[in-house]
Amino acid sequence: MSEQTRERTPERRVVVVGAGMAGVQTAVALREQGFTGPVTLIGAEPHQPYDRPPLSKAVLLGTAEGSAFDVDFEALGITLRLGCEALGVRPDEHVLDTSEGPEPYDRLVLATGAEPLRLPGAEGVPGVHLLRTLDDAERLRPVLARRHDVVVVGAGWIGAEFATAAREAGCEVTVVEAADRPLAGALPAEVAAPMTRWYAEAGAVLRTHARVRRVEPGEDSGEPGHVVVLDDGSRLPADAVVVGIGARPATAWLADSGIALGAHGEVLADDRLRTSAADVYAVGDCASFPSGRYGERLMVHHWDNALQGPRTVAADIVGAAAGEPPEPYDPVPYFWSEQFGRFVQYAGHHTAADTTLWRGDPASAAWTVCWLRGDRLVALLAVGRPRDLAQGRRLIQAGTAMDPRLLADPAQPLKAATA
Ligand code: FAD
Repeated sequence: MSEQTRERTPERRVVVVGAGMAGVQTAVALREQGFTGPVTLIGAEPHQPYDRPPLSKAVLLGTAEGSAFDVDFEALGITLRLGCEALGVRPDEHVLDTSEGPEPYDRLVLATGAEPLRLPGAEGVPGVHLLRTLDDAERLRPVLARRHDVVVVGAGWIGAEFATAAREAGCEVTVVEAADRPLAGALPAEVAAPMTRWYAEAGAVLRTHARVRRVEPGEDSGEPGHVVVLDDGSRLPADAVVVGIGARPATAWLADSGIALGAHGEVLADDRLRTSAADVYAVGDCASFPSGRYGERLMVHHWDNALQGPRTVAADIVGAAAGEPPEPYDPVPYFWSEQFGRFVQYAGHHTAADTTLWRGDPASAAWTVCWLRGDRLVALLAVGRPRDLAQGRRLIQAGTAMDPRLLADPAQPLKAATA
């Protein structure tokens, strides 16, 4: 940002709601892009803002104490208001209502993230855990430290990561999954199939087609503490139950605001992450945006989206004032997962692909799946092949034509047909 632009930035007041990755990055990006006006960051949790991925990894195992962001809010002139919950927005008046009273704004950024789905039939049963917040992770640490028998409900990303940590800690782990395979909502059957084996190799029991009917608290407070009752009548004893069955945007508080929400409750943003209300933006897990690249609206519940999106929001806030609208937000989505000793990375979006190509043997330690539409790479999943991921991500971004023969050879670098 040039000094000239910096001087043109008016002193507007920006309020950011949600002090997770997307909210913090928005506040930081505003300063990085030369915004000099007041910035207030409001977060419902009392903790210093922190990063979530370590919660299902190092924080859970106790190898890291916490995961607070290394950001000096004071030095950046960002006012932090923690333990403060946003309750509603009055867009016509440019006012945010909070548990501490009304907060006027010139620009408002919604970054309230997502909240985990609760397990029907387990409401109010003590010892049934979710894993979304630092408090959740801290409640789960003793479960691991005491090597309790655990039933994990859901073989998605969070379920797999929790099962990994619990096995590492020495817990007996059973994972119950209603679908016929792990990651059924995220990956096609043939790609998820090799992952089924990972559970058994790590010593975890994976039960598919297993739907939980209810969780019964233990009788006479004897061990084990709970019984997980499945639809087929099976009864699984457990000291603790961890539920990882998905998350939905944390937007119930916007119900009366008039701000347009989508079918999943997500804030409908445009390609600059502006909402249906003037001067209100939405970013991170709470929002969806139209992807020009993939021709559909995307709701991305991953860390990289909460890093990239804020740069567009900040650029729009700063640039709009300076008459320089930013590029549309059109990322190649990216995420990673660490499970069962493997580093799993995904880039792109595969739903419209017409060809699936394997690089390497899925029974081996390292392999990649590539998805093509015509001769263009649209997505890839890399297991233990970070170089494939890095190269593939660039090729997806560039929309380069590929040679499927070269692509399928794991000994060849991932490169364009003409390169
Ligand atoms: P959040 O991180 O959910 O932050 C939103 C914040 O807003 C929260 O602190 C919440 O308390 C606050 N808030 C909500 N409502 C209100 C309100 N009304 N008023 C005030 N504040 C409010 N992604 C990956 O790509 N790789 C990983 O390995 C990975 N691991 C993960 C592990 C765990 C355990 C979890 C939970 C997530 C993981 N993710 C991972 C996903 C990633 O962390 C999220 O995509 C990211 O945190 C989204 O950031 P966000 O700021 O949009 O939302």
